[in-house]
Amino acid sequence: MEIPKHRHCLNCGISIPPDQVFCSEKCRLEYMQRRKRMLRTQYMFLAIAGLIILYYIITIAFKV
Ligand SMILES: [Zn+2]
Repeated sequence: MEIPKHRHCLNCGISIPPDQVFCSEKCRLEYMQRRKRMLRTQYMFLAIAGLIILYYIITIAFKV
């Protein structure tokens, strides 16, 4: 048995034609917003990690 070629909407996961990425404009916008939020969270995490590393470097550098 062969499964017909199809994709899943990146936002809600329902089956859509293979030439589409999202099932609707609403899902496309929702996905973009969610991705933007996720990227912001990742940047924030990186910034905090960077600050902690910087703090350790400074602490070690000034320890005589
Ligand atoms: Zn969708």
